[in-house]
This record gives sequence, C-alpha cells and structure tokens, in this order.
Amino acid sequence: MDLLIETIKQEGIILSDSVLKVDSFLNHQIDPQLMLEMGKEFAKRFKEEGITKIVTLESSGIAPSIMTGLQLDIPVIFARKKKSLTLVNELLTAKVYSFTKQESNDISVAKKFLNENDHILIIDDFLANGQAALGLAEIVKQANASIAGIGIVIEKGFQNGGAKLRELGYRVESLATIHSLKNGEIIFKEEARG
Ligand code: 5GP
Repeated sequence: MDLLIETIKQEGIILSDSVLKVDSFLNHQIDPQLMLEMGKEFAKRFKEEGITKIVTLESSGIAPSIMTGLQLDIPVIFARKKKSLTLVNELLTAKVYSFTKQESNDISVAKKFLNENDHILIIDDFLANGQAALGLAEIVKQANASIAGIGIVIEKGFQNGGAKLRELGYRVESLATIHSLKNGEIIFKEEARG
C-alpha cells in the first residue's frame, strides 16, 4: 500500500536491525486518515470471504481493525493482555511470547464474543516471528470458529512469522513488507534486489 510505505519512509525510526518504531502514526500517536485507508485496503482484500468478526490484539491492532470493521460492517474484538481474575472461566486464552518485550503474556477474549459460526479476520500491527498472530488464531480455534485470513499492517519479511503462518495454510495479507532494516536503511520488498 503506497501511502503506508511512503509514511513509513518518512516517519519510521530504525531502532535496530530488527525493530522499527512507528509511534508517530500507529503505535502511539495515530493518523486516523491513514487508518481509514488501511481499513479500506483490508476490506477490499477480504471482502469476498464472508467474514463475521475481526479479532486483534490491544492496543496497536485496534485502530486499523476498527477501520476495517467499519468498512465491512462487522464487530471488532480485541484480545486483552491482562486477565481479570474473576472472569477466568469465561475466557479463551493463549500464551504469546512478545518479540518487543521479550516476555510471555497470556492474552484473552471473553467466550461470549466468539462462536462456531464465526469466520474471523485476524489483524495485527506488526508481523515478526508470528507469535501474536498464532496466539490469536489459537483463541479463535478454541471457540471452534474458522479463520478467513490474517491482515498485517507491517510485515518484517526477514523474520520467520510470515513463512510460518503461510506454511500453516493461512492467507496472510500485509499492507507493507520490509525486506531489511540493516545499515540504517528501510528496504521494502518491492525495492529489494536479487
Ligand atoms: P510476533 O508476535 O510476530 O513475533 O511480533 C509481532 C508483535 O510484536 C506485534 O504485535 C507488535 O506489537 C510487536 N512487534 C514486533 N516487531 C515490531 C517492530 O519492529 N516494531 C514495533 N513497533 N512492534 C513490533
């Protein structure tokens, strides 16, 4: 998605060879117009799939998911990273190892929001090693719902999450794919040579 790639080029901050900071439009300050365009793009790519709900992870998955939900006219559910102890029996949970925080967290969704008739689009902000997406997929499976695909805002193609998810048979649609963050330069898939 050209607008997203341009915004990443202008505003993305390379923190290391493997971590990109995009806190001026996605992870802290949010650009609503860009989120709307992302929502339209995800909706366009998945509109034929008969999706009933979107499942994402708080907090950075929420903005692009809301805009996609608005376009497809379906609800958006965000998995919580902190459990409310009183509700444990009514929760679907999965363990997710966080790439950026380097720790494991349980993520959870209330059982009442998902059922076996649901066909789910999973959305997240970044795809690195695939742990967040796999955790969300695990929760959807626990509800006996089906998965239409996985929508990712920024895929880091040099990490193994994309390959892992595609090997498992998931349709993964990324709005921007980064080939490399080496030498202080952001190279996108389309620009990579050889
Ligand atoms: P994964 O679970 O695929 O290993 O990593 C994806 C999750 O880690 C996303 O939910 C995202 O919050 C975070 N993440 C992974 N890589 C990056 C990155 O380069 N920048 C930022 N801002 N978040 C990342």
